[in-house]
Amino acid sequence: MITKWDNRFLGLARHISAWSKDPSTKVGAVIADRHNRIVSLGYNGLPRKIEDNPSRLQDRETKLALTLHAEQNAILFAQGRAWGGTIYTWPLPPCAHCASQIVQAGLYRVVSHVPTHEHLSRWAASLRLAYDVLREAGVMVEDAELDGDKSEALKAPSLEEDVSAELFDVISDLLKSHGY
Ligand SMILES: [Zn+2]
Repeated sequence: MITKWDNRFLGLARHISAWSKDPSTKVGAVIADRHNRIVSLGYNGLPRKIEDNPSRLQDRETKLALTLHAEQNAILFAQGRAWGGTIYTWPLPPCAHCASQIVQAGLYRVVSHVPTHEHLSRWAASLRLAYDVLREAGVMVEDAELDGDKSEALKAPSLEEDVSAELFDVISDLLKSHGY
């Protein structure tokens, strides 16, 4: 069941996706524990200390080889605290590789934005494999639709409409502790 908190965290993942410097696919992920506390955040990008210059980001093969997915970054930053929590991803559900890491990190639930037709046609095989892996490992998989998603699927909203001031303080502290 999708709760008010699920929508908030998915909205936060949507907000964070805009921070990705990837010119084509921008994904955000949030990990929250069972008490609705934010444990970690992530977006897709090159590893820290690795310069994200245009020649790397625009060469598809180099980009794919070096990029960490939003889910991977969120799990790495969680440093073990992801266990038993929920991971929220926007605008795509996890790929098969991230699904394996989600299982291994001990997350118990995945909440993703419903993929668009374009995403489904491009990533169908990986998304299907990911779904099967998650289900086999007993990870709950749910999806949700946020207000305004249908009309503006890939446009990141402004901070004001997306994240409450209180939540923003929590995020700011978290980001500082992660060296963002
Ligand atoms: Zn992935």
